[in-house]
Amino acid sequence: MDSSAVLQKYFGHTAFRPGQERLVTGILSGRDALGIMPTGGGKSICYQVPALLLPGLTLVISPLISLMKDQVAALTAAGVDAAFLNSSQDLEESRAVWSALRRRALRLLYVAPERLENPRFLELVSSLDIPLVAVDEAHCISQWGQDFRPSYLKIADFVAGLPCRPVLAAFTATATAKVQEDIVGQLSLQDPVRVVTGFDRPNLFFDVRRPKNKLTSLMALLSERRGRSGIVYCATRSSVERVCQGLLDFGIPATRYHAGLSEEERRRNQDDFRFDRRTVMVATNAFGMGIDKSNVSFVIHYNMPKNLESYYQEAGRAGRDGEPADCILLYGAGDVVTAKLLMENSSQNEEKRELLQQRDLDRLDVMVGYCKTTDCLRGCLLDYFGQPHSETCGNCGNCKSVFTEVDVTVQAQMILSCVKRVRDKLGYYVGASLLVQVLRGGHSQRIRELELDALPTYGLMKESPSDQVRAILDCLESGGYVFTEQAHSTLRLTQRAGAVLFRGERVTMLAREKPPADEIVGSRRKREQLRQQVPVDSGLLAALKAERYRLAQREGVPAYIVFSNAVLSGMAARMPHSMEEFLEISGVGEKKAARYGEDFLSVIADYEASEAEG
Ligand code: ADP
Ligand code: ZN
Repeated sequence: MDSSAVLQKYFGHTAFRPGQERLVTGILSGRDALGIMPTGGGKSICYQVPALLLPGLTLVISPLISLMKDQVAALTAAGVDAAFLNSSQDLEESRAVWSALRRRALRLLYVAPERLENPRFLELVSSLDIPLVAVDEAHCISQWGQDFRPSYLKIADFVAGLPCRPVLAAFTATATAKVQEDIVGQLSLQDPVRVVTGFDRPNLFFDVRRPKNKLTSLMALLSERRGRSGIVYCATRSSVERVCQGLLDFGIPATRYHAGLSEEERRRNQDDFRFDRRTVMVATNAFGMGIDKSNVSFVIHYNMPKNLESYYQEAGRAGRDGEPADCILLYGAGDVVTAKLLMENSSQNEEKRELLQQRDLDRLDVMVGYCKTTDCLRGCLLDYFGQPHSETCGNCGNCKSVFTEVDVTVQAQMILSCVKRVRDKLGYYVGASLLVQVLRGGHSQRIRELELDALPTYGLMKESPSDQVRAILDCLESGGYVFTEQAHSTLRLTQRAGAVLFRGERVTMLAREKPPADEIVGSRRKREQLRQQVPVDSGLLAALKAERYRLAQREGVPAYIVFSNAVLSGMAARMPHSMEEFLEISGVGEKKAARYGEDFLSVIADYEASEAEG
């Protein structure tokens, strides 16, 4: 059997995606490999297909238990002999795996990197044929990355200690050049085949909102998405608690996840979400890397993450099944402060610590830039990953909005002169939030103590809502009239401010006009457009989903392990009548066809019969 036949037989895909084929061919010819693809790009196929063609056992190193579990469940459902070894198993389960290994009955074994140091495991593995070692989430090896795991550094030693050097293949969704170089270096990859696929995820709709009240806005967004599965990311444990409770009070089936919960509760809540018993997961960024759930149809950020890399990774958990999905960030000025507080740098070495701090602040600036830009949001993300793109994408909040140019010269003069007056009075500059308070005539203790209420600019913008003052402030910053000093977050005037204050320079701002019905119409329209390309009978789709639910219950697996939403849509569109036609649907492999084919075919037949009667 060749690789295309394996792809068809086990995974039900008719063709490799660009990039997958090069990696698979490279690995099969004995070359090391480095695959950089976005989440949902199809990395796992790149080592699973070779594993089925190479003699012996492929070892997959994976950082998280939940990730292994899902992968192994999916492989088993596809008829592949795969297993994992980790600390979550009881003695009986792990014995069964050890015995299968000894019998050479497995094609893939998933292990955490810590396992590689276990002497008993080393002994067993040395007696087996290991043609391929695949390193998943390989960015964990880099100290420059988000999720550094010291035990990943041991992988190279482990590989070097094997009787026969296997092919080494590393995969990640993190693209920065620095991390890539670290992976190649730390793993000692030898002249690897490198594939960096496009980072664009066309099915994702990106948007940034600046709501007056985040919780109200979140509830509106969730009300429009009832019945859909999604994640709400918050910056802190306490906001997870607060938001989750708010949603439950509002009648939304939410659950929560953060590092402060007991392991048992985390597992239970995660399962409630995986099995669609609760559709909304409210979580900190502790939730996610292990999540392989493909039918997540939105990711809403309640707070701004600390950099674009984290944002893209978290938002990218939406729409892995290729269906249209929304990634919405709710931005508030307080998010910058929270993000700074959460940046702890624990490095011992002082010089390095400073370097890391500066790097974090620079990354934060780029993240804030994303929240404030009026340009294409997708373009902004792709720029970060160094990928060329067209100027507009047509599927993000900014591309879909109408912007009008408004003259804000008068307000700009008020703001700039307030910055100057405060500075003249106090002898130092202050941050944006105090400034906005002064302009709006606030009554805080700080204002009274500093006697800022005596300034002629005090209360000058009483009539303007604070988000509007903020927006003009941002516009002044991007226009280069003021800048934020990084270390203390104080707002300072630049030379250019003088042109507005003294020489009558005009300032204009692009204001985004709110589309009706709290926006999102854009994404809904897009969704309908995409749907229209493949006309799908929604009644049939519902019947197929009900059948999938029944089968998933019967087998005790999450629904997406049976078939993804994309596969069900394919079934509804093509309405197969025979096993042959059923096998032609993308995502249907032989094993799954044998196991579920009859059930789904009869649902389709019944549905057609009832339609004919009605
Ligand atoms: P990653 O590990 O890169 O996040 P996965 O390996 O989980 O991505 O694949 C994401 C989705 O893409 C899965 O639903 C998978 O079935 C689908 N997929 C992968 N390769 C192909 C292919 N060649 N043709 C069609 N669908 C594919
Ligand atoms: Zn766009």
